[in-house]
Amino acid sequence: MATHQFQTEVGQLLHLITHSLYSHKEIFIRELVSNSSDALDKLKYLTLTDDKLKEMSFDPKIHINFEEGDEPRVIVQDNGLGMNDADLSENLGTIAKSGTKAFIGQLTGDSKKDSNLIGQFGVGFYSAFMVSDKIDVYSRKVGEEITWHWSSDGKGEFTIEKAGDDDAEADKLDGPGTRIVCHLNEEGKEFANRWQIQEVIKKYSNHIAFTIFLTYEKT
Ligand code: ADP
Ligand code: MG
Repeated sequence: MATHQFQTEVGQLLHLITHSLYSHKEIFIRELVSNSSDALDKLKYLTLTDDKLKEMSFDPKIHINFEEGDEPRVIVQDNGLGMNDADLSENLGTIAKSGTKAFIGQLTGDSKKDSNLIGQFGVGFYSAFMVSDKIDVYSRKVGEEITWHWSSDGKGEFTIEKAGDDDAEADKLDGPGTRIVCHLNEEGKEFANRWQIQEVIKKYSNHIAFTIFLTYEKT
């Protein structure tokens, strides 16, 4: 297992997001769904343009699953492009785009305005730490065999390892794609709820071009 430090800006950003957007914390669902939709778009494009992938059967879907109970979780899974270890480290550990400083500078303290900024500046994934003690990401990149497991409590470090053969979570990916498991914190546990999730999807994700399935388990 490799342990990595978040880029300093990510640390700053996590802090800012948690403190400025808490009254619109439901946007984490919008951001995760939007990332899944992007990943499906990218794979769709490849299946049309890349000779190696033209034969691939591709039925793009987004699954949202939630679990109530003592350890509430919200899980967003897609069968899109997926990420390998290098992608995970790059995409979920650094803020590549130069917009970060601009983003931080534009935060107004008005939660509603700021929650709209977050998607524009490409820092959406991190919003899930507003509602999570820990996030596990399982991902397999199209054309590759290995499922990778990224994990972090959002407090400075993240780890990346190959998912074990006996990892039941990783097994839920049966092809390329990404499974994001949010272990909900006290502020987030209200989202392990069908009505909450349905409301948020209706409000923010109506325009998404792919089918979104909502399922739940009582634990
Ligand atoms: P943005 O979507 O604006 O780039 P995010 O913070 O939302 O910023 O996501 C960062 C990056 O992580 C994305 O650009 C993408 O490369 C990667 N990523 C996040 N979620 C997924 C996913 N479900 N599938 C594939 N890649 C993802
Ligand atoms: Mg995004």
